[in-house]
Amino acid sequence: MTEIERHEYDVLVIGAGGAGLRAAIEAAERGLRTAIVCKSLFGKAHTVMAEGGCAAAMGNVNENDSWQVHFRDTMRGGKFLNNWRMAELHAKEAPDRVWELESYGALFDRTEDGRISQRHFGGHTYPRLAHVGDRTGLELLRTMQQRIVALQQDDFAETGDYEARLRVFAECTVTELLKGPGPDPSAGPDGAIAGALGYWRESGRLVVFSAPAVVLATGGIGKSFQVTSNSWEYTGDGHALALRAGADLIDMEFVQFHPTGMVWPPSVKGILVTEGVRGDGGVLKNSEGKRFMFEYVPDVFKGQYADTEDEADRWYDDQEKNRRTPDLLPRDEVARAINTEVKEGRGSPHGGVYLDIASRMPAEEIKRRLPSMYHQFKELADVDITAEPMEVGPTCHYVMGGIQVDPDTGQSRVPGLFAAGECAGGMHGSNRLGGNSLSDLLVFGRRAGLGAADYVVGLESRPTVRAADVDAAAEMTLAPFDPPSDPQDGTGGAGAENPYTLHAELQRMMNDLVGIIRTESEVAEAQRRLGELRARIRQVFVEGYRQYNPGWHLALDLRNMLMVSEAVAASALLRTESRGGHTREDHPGLDAEWRHRVLVTRCADSNEVVPRVVVEPAERVPMREDLLALFEFSELQKYYTPAELAAHPGQPA
Ligand code: FAD
Repeated sequence: MTEIERHEYDVLVIGAGGAGLRAAIEAAERGLRTAIVCKSLFGKAHTVMAEGGCAAAMGNVNENDSWQVHFRDTMRGGKFLNNWRMAELHAKEAPDRVWELESYGALFDRTEDGRISQRHFGGHTYPRLAHVGDRTGLELLRTMQQRIVALQQDDFAETGDYEARLRVFAECTVTELLKGPGPDPSAGPDGAIAGALGYWRESGRLVVFSAPAVVLATGGIGKSFQVTSNSWEYTGDGHALALRAGADLIDMEFVQFHPTGMVWPPSVKGILVTEGVRGDGGVLKNSEGKRFMFEYVPDVFKGQYADTEDEADRWYDDQEKNRRTPDLLPRDEVARAINTEVKEGRGSPHGGVYLDIASRMPAEEIKRRLPSMYHQFKELADVDITAEPMEVGPTCHYVMGGIQVDPDTGQSRVPGLFAAGECAGGMHGSNRLGGNSLSDLLVFGRRAGLGAADYVVGLESRPTVRAADVDAAAEMTLAPFDPPSDPQDGTGGAGAENPYTLHAELQRMMNDLVGIIRTESEVAEAQRRLGELRARIRQVFVEGYRQYNPGWHLALDLRNMLMVSEAVAASALLRTESRGGHTREDHPGLDAEWRHRVLVTRCADSNEVVPRVVVEPAERVPMREDLLALFEFSELQKYYTPAELAAHPGQPA
């Protein structure tokens, strides 16, 4: 078999975004030998792209804020589908995680009296997003990288080796997880995580990591869609790796389409326009110049948003006496509203609507508050946002669905397999509030690192990587170099499929048929086409060598994208209601009977190139009573069935 490089660690973290780095810091600080593997350059993860800020109820700008208010906002944003324990931990621990970042050296923007400044964002009752201009993610990641370097310097001082306990393997892609006997070997040979196989992107050389604990922190799935704010590494690798290893995914039908992506020119379509533009005063207008969001406040939010432009504008300065602008409704509501405006002929010339900040504040103020947005539009679209409105429209942005984990430890169903950040599911329910991802990855990245460390320390013996599994994983990884055999004469090459063609077809199909608005017939058609793509991927063939070969990399990513797309489509077909990031035109309303159900995706068999998935409903764990009591009974009635509320203390006599 092909020559393979080998390494051994206690904890293997796959992904070097915010979640991965925070997990690695925690595991390393507990003295465990930790490796961080990332397929992009170190420092170039999605987290860097986060613009608006990190949500944490610190109460710096409005002292009425508290973890309870943040918890309520998060549950409302997710339309009560969130894993309530995750939402609770998140709301309680986010402030400590932000302050901790300061102790690592983060430099947040300040209020006039010197505290960490916080800005408004959609769905958050109070100004809550700690920020660094519109480059918050960059500062967050920079700070955690700095922390990692500091830990390596400590190790050098102690051992003479910077990488004695903590090493980064950058531009290294993991293609398969490896398992061995579990903590209870009598339960079978395939119980627990034993490591992972990957390849160096530059040399194509294969590498095996032996480690009893793996933390998946691989981010999202946006590259399965044509119009997306996500970059090339968001191919659902962690989701698919977890499925193939035997873990469950939940909530995969919920995909967030951010309302404001760039729509023009075509080369930049989908690139994000931060919600911070609206948080700082920008407003949405249609081609008639009308602020249309006032027409789109749904019943469940009635009374919570301003009815008039005057009140909405006063709210920016006085939140006690006025209600917030409907421009800042949760993202799913705004994205659907924009979609309707465009469909009904009131869109902008390039198929979006207008986002106007130019008429709302002086040019210098816009440049100070939103420097990246100013440069982004100037350089990419030749639009001066201090003088004219931006054209914006929905773009695939975030996946709420992900690996099902224990909220407290981040462990999946597979012993030794942990997950955190965007690749984990549950925290955001059917729709994530802006700013809640950066806080999510800090809170649950730390918890997963801690969970993995505790797990390793508690092991009596370590599962070992089996040679046969390594060979099988290596064979699958190198398979795209094997020419498909011609059924006529058995020779290679005939009927070969190009990974780029397949990817473009997948993206177009997912955008058109499983995108922002879905119907039964369209999703069923998507499933049929996914079946065809599944057959065609067996014929994918890449030419050339293993040394930096992007066609090969894409062929491997495609396998993951197809598996995850099947999970999204199958879940979208089953959920016959509209909620958050899942809109069914043929089932337009919320259905209380669906609120207490979660759709679970599992891997059905694993012998195929793209193993099949099955999706089945299960019951959600009912919310703890003290948390339920944080909501008015009348609000819960909008979401819960009467039977679920029968024991609620607020039930009218
Ligand atoms: P990432 O930061 O994406 O890291 C994933 C890592 O996994 C990368 O290092 C990648 O190379 C690695 N990886 C993937 N697959 C493999 C593999 N097979 N092998 C090895 N490594 C692998 N959220 C907010 O809260 N506030 C905001 O203001 C905000 N703004 C955003 C703006 C933009 C443009 C975008 C796209 C997102 C924004 N988000 C925001 C969302 C937020 O940035 C992401 O959800 C979050 O950063 C995800 O972090 P993560 O650690 O889970 O993953």
